[in-house]
Amino acid sequence: MDDLNGGGPRSLSIFGSTGSIGRQALEVVRASAGRFTVHALSANSSLEDLALQIAEFRPPVAVVGTSEMASELCERFPWLSCRVGRSGLYEVAGEAEIALNAVVGFSGLSVTLGALEAGKRLALANKESLVAAGPVVHAAMEASKGEIVPVDSEHAAIHQCLRGYPHTEVARLLLTSSGGPFRERAEADLASVTKDEALKHPTWSMGPKITVDSSTLMNKALEIIEAVELFGVEPAKVEVVVHPESIVHSMVEYVDGAVLAQLSRPDMRLAIGYALGYPERMPTKYGELDFTSRLSLHFEPPRRSVFKGIDLAFEALRAGAGAPAWLNAANEVAVDAFLQGRIRWIEIYEVIEATMERFEPTRFSSADEVIALDQIARLRCSEVIGRRAPA
Ligand code: NDP
Ligand code: MG
Repeated sequence: MDDLNGGGPRSLSIFGSTGSIGRQALEVVRASAGRFTVHALSANSSLEDLALQIAEFRPPVAVVGTSEMASELCERFPWLSCRVGRSGLYEVAGEAEIALNAVVGFSGLSVTLGALEAGKRLALANKESLVAAGPVVHAAMEASKGEIVPVDSEHAAIHQCLRGYPHTEVARLLLTSSGGPFRERAEADLASVTKDEALKHPTWSMGPKITVDSSTLMNKALEIIEAVELFGVEPAKVEVVVHPESIVHSMVEYVDGAVLAQLSRPDMRLAIGYALGYPERMPTKYGELDFTSRLSLHFEPPRRSVFKGIDLAFEALRAGAGAPAWLNAANEVAVDAFLQGRIRWIEIYEVIEATMERFEPTRFSSADEVIALDQIARLRCSEVIGRRAPA
């Protein structure tokens, strides 16, 4: 990829700018003293929030979910070029030097492919696109000079711990997990988990989908696959460690037994700034730790028999042939059903497992093929949900 800096500000597009990561990215831009110029912002349906961001950052381009939203925005901001939907995301993702993909879910695939196929930097928060479409994403990257710098805090930590060392010396990638809000809850009591409880994360404040994923540890399952795709390690070298304080964001163990870790307070602005500024570091100390106060760090193994996502992720990696895409799609549909009150929290895993039992191995090499595969998995998952009694 080209030298990003060249002395002047870097052009940056933020996709999903109205979400949790998107809003924090704009804070990083505000604090960056002119390091970035905002080329494009995007939202799916949050028109008013997006309009406020456009008024402040005055990007030349916006991408929205519907043509009605586009007309409304163009009326308010006559200088703005508005694009719509999946094709809009794909085209605009290749326009700026850096595309931050902070869209939630598989819909983020257009941004991932648009940026990489144009040879740009992809600052990747949207793990779902990489998990579901790994081979297509790699092909896009190889065909261009694009690069991915992870925003997901664990992968940003590993990216930092790998700097300067050959991958052949890596023994294990240790992905930390807060354990979620139900880390200590007895298995028998998980049947009564409510939506409010699942939406309260102990250490991070995030969008609803990833918050539910963190409560089931399906987020960690996706992150195992994300780590394998990003760092090219064998699945057997990836391990999950529960660390309730969320201070150690992940670790790399080398062949001599030495472990390197990245520590900071849980603050996504640090990981966002890292991915935008790499290889330079941003001077704002997000997540700074106070070592004059008592700091305790605890580590324990995850309860894999309860939080089954970890094993499901390894099984999907073993199976290949679209299994990670099925796992991702089943999870998205199940979480959506849970958030709509159609299934209970405890049923999320039952639905995912029943969907994976129906897995139809499929070879895919193009974006269209992975989109078709995702749709079949969603259909099977909806059928599974439809057969169940109402929550
Ligand atoms: P949010 O739900 O807070 O925000 C999602 C953003 O995506 C919003 O701007 C939303 O627009 C937009 N969006 C939703 N659906 C679509 C669609 N179909 N097409 C285009 N845009 C869409 O999510 P988060 O910010 O929490 O998460 C974003 C991504 O980052 C996820 O993949 C998540 O796993 C990952 N991530 C998040 C972390 C966090 O701390 N939040 C940490 C690590 C990773 P609108 O507002 O209009 O709905
Ligand atoms: Mg994470």
